[in-house]
Amino acid sequence: MKKSPSIPSYESAMGREGLRLTPQRRQVYEVLMDKRDHPTATEVFIRAQKKMPSISLATVYNCLETMVGNGLVKAVHVDREPTRFCANLMEHGHFHCTGCGHISDIEFSQTHDKGWKLPSGFLVTQHDLTLRGLCTDCGATFKNSNNSQPTTK
Ligand SMILES: [Zn+2]
Ligand SMILES: [Zn+2]
Repeated sequence: MKKSPSIPSYESAMGREGLRLTPQRRQVYEVLMDKRDHPTATEVFIRAQKKMPSISLATVYNCLETMVGNGLVKAVHVDREPTRFCANLMEHGHFHCTGCGHISDIEFSQTHDKGWKLPSGFLVTQHDLTLRGLCTDCGATFKNSNNSQPTTK
């Protein structure tokens, strides 16, 4: 089976950025790749600690900071919640469900600049976009709770 080229391996991603491959960084990165639910630093720490009991929260913060600085990991800011982290290196935005708090990755279409009325000459080089709304499940619940009145036929 061909591996998806959209997910760079830790080694290639790290190598590209010239980052030293410490076991801690590998662990933190693996946690982010493992379950892409945009965990907070504390959640990353808890997961990393299961496989590497010696890792400290400060180290996890350091690793995340370094990887965000190098563009290996995206920091996702949602309202006033703690920063969440994402190892999806594809250009993507985030959809924040205000019902359950889940954050999903949303792919950009190839035609990035369409839909935005950019002043002429402006060039988009990076996206940092968070959409808010309701996921399928929460949307259904929302609809049901608003349909309490009998519908007239
Ligand atoms: Zn939801
Ligand atoms: Zn993401």
